[in-house]
Amino acid sequence: MWSGLPIAYLSLGSNLGDREDYLRQAIAKLSAHCEIKVLNTSAVYQTEAVGYEEQADFLNLVVEIESSLKPIELLDFTQEIENQLDRTREIRWGPRTIDIDIILFGQEEINSPRLTIPHPRFHKRAFVLVPLAELTKEVIYQGWTAAELLAGLEAGDQGVEEYKNSL
Ligand code: AMP
Repeated sequence: MWSGLPIAYLSLGSNLGDREDYLRQAIAKLSAHCEIKVLNTSAVYQTEAVGYEEQADFLNLVVEIESSLKPIELLDFTQEIENQLDRTREIRWGPRTIDIDIILFGQEEINSPRLTIPHPRFHKRAFVLVPLAELTKEVIYQGWTAAELLAGLEAGDQGVEEYKNSL
């Protein structure tokens, strides 16, 4: 039965070391928090890195959670997970063991120095929209579903490759 707690979607990515294991560890840490319930996890997708291109491909997935945390508390916790798992982030946009972005948090709209929700670039990123469309058919952004946002991307921006059906 629906608990009434807000549903949030997190985008997780890794392109350094044992990428699958970092994704698995991050999800385990989310699940272990007493105020977070992991409801669903998408398939794993492989994506070429954007920005700094001399680096390995990313593995990406989206996790659906429900949580009684405030959005900023969730950010504190996801950053704590990044710090625990991410010891070598030296180049901005460069390789990282784990990156966690809060894509959506219930109906929240937040524009603070530390936190922007909905995530400002998610609606242009196939590596977020493809796994997100797997998890929700609802209207999520300015009247659009994730599948509709995906269909609106330039053809060249739509490609992400399924890497593994589940972790
Ligand atoms: P990155 O290096 O891509 O992990 O970016 C992390 C920075 O983005 C942090 O300083 C966060 O405070 C900020 N940020 C703003 N909005 C979000 C969001 N929705 N999810 C995660 N980080 C965010």
